[in-house]
Amino acid sequence: MSVRFYNTLTRAVEPLEPQEEGHVRMYTCGPTVYDRAHIGNFRAFTWEDLLRRYLKWRGYRVTQVMNLTDVDDRTIQAAVDRGVGLSEVTAPVTEAFFEDWETLGLESVEENPRATEHVPQMIELVRQLEERGLTYEKDGSVYFAIDRFPGYGRLANLDPESLLTGGRVEGDENYSKENPRDFVLWKGGARGHEGEVAVWDSPWGPGRPGWHLECSAMAMEYLGETLDIHTGGVDNIFPHHVNEIAQSEGATGRPFARLWLHAEHLLSEGEKMSKSLGNFYTLESLLERGYRPSAIRYLLLSAHYRTQLNFTLDGLKDADRAVGRLFEFQRRIRDAASLADRGSRDGDLVELASRWREAFTEALDDDLNASDALGVTFVMVREANLALDAADGAGAGALEALEGAVDDFDSVFGVLDLRAREETVDSADLREWIEERIAARAAARAERDFARSDAIRDELLEAGIALEDGPSGTRWKLRSETD
Ligand code: AMP
Ligand code: ZN
Repeated sequence: MSVRFYNTLTRAVEPLEPQEEGHVRMYTCGPTVYDRAHIGNFRAFTWEDLLRRYLKWRGYRVTQVMNLTDVDDRTIQAAVDRGVGLSEVTAPVTEAFFEDWETLGLESVEENPRATEHVPQMIELVRQLEERGLTYEKDGSVYFAIDRFPGYGRLANLDPESLLTGGRVEGDENYSKENPRDFVLWKGGARGHEGEVAVWDSPWGPGRPGWHLECSAMAMEYLGETLDIHTGGVDNIFPHHVNEIAQSEGATGRPFARLWLHAEHLLSEGEKMSKSLGNFYTLESLLERGYRPSAIRYLLLSAHYRTQLNFTLDGLKDADRAVGRLFEFQRRIRDAASLADRGSRDGDLVELASRWREAFTEALDDDLNASDALGVTFVMVREANLALDAADGAGAGALEALEGAVDDFDSVFGVLDLRAREETVDSADLREWIEERIAARAAARAERDFARSDAIRDELLEAGIALEDGPSGTRWKLRSETD
């Protein structure tokens, strides 16, 4: 069977059929860089990373574009509130965002266009819509007339007649519309409260683009008129993606995206994790509490993307243990590989690895079923561990097959590489801490404060570190049972 996904547009599971064979063009709605992203946002981005890695593992070339919304109501409001320019708000938030991105082991995507750098393309798109008679202008703003676009709202299963505005509507109420359900393409006219924070010249006078317009213009600029896959969170379906479709298809007359994939929310205390509810965690705050990126990544990927996932610290601890089990297995295989050729269960283990690969692929081919893919992986780990215990090792062929399975697993899930990185950092941090304690003890001794120097020695002993004072200074070693 081939790779297939649930398409929000058709409400059916459909095969992936890229327009160009073997090459997937994918657009991902990126962050609004007004404030640090929380791990709810990162559930969407981490799932999109899983999707990307899986497609690559299945042999596709992937061209993925993820925008940065660096001008919209929220970014402008933040700049106005703080009395600074737009980029003073967006530049540090963007930097922090990509730091988190890397910490979670997300791969760089091919393009990260910024909205502020694509205003000419947005203006051009509005002009095309204008030429096709789908817009009207009022007081310097341009609106999309939804009743002139047949099929408006199909993605969200909306009945255009009974449609009410909802979701994030960009303060449209401040602008004069013919039909309250129309949405704004270009925001012009008197926008006193925004001052000069974000103003571009346009055929309709000075103004700035609407949020929906940004994604349509940037997606088509980099990926052409029809995308193979468009992704986002379920909260993007309406109005954002509905309006992206209207703008793009209204201008080109061609389908905008073949497959629309939407991830469900990360919940916290039973509700969508969000800034406005205050029930959110940032990655930084979890790291400060000592949780590891690999566990956070694992937790975010552990449920099927179309089911809600409730975030708890207990869940995070379980995730950490799960990563630990996989990591230990990987180590065991690698260590055993150096002593190979002792066992007799080669055939069984090679067969186990190949059955795993089949089941893993089957799970992920089926609408990226990550929880099943993890399930079959743990079955393999358990069976392999039992076999290795029983035979006291295994032959080179078997170990190679198992190592290949674990490597394949991690090229898709990306948690073991992260864990390996953490172990290195952990030990570097530990070394630094020990050196600092030894220096503090030396200082205490120089001041003849022996109570303090003894306390530091005990503190280190407690942490499993023994000190040896010699003529060339103090050396440390891991404490053995006899120390
Ligand atoms: P924003 O920065 O608000 O434009 O959101 C960026 C991405 O995060 C969008 O794809 C949203 O759908 C997604 N998102 C926001 N909150 C959550 C949540 N609690 N769980 C999962 N995804 C979310
Ligand atoms: Zn978007």
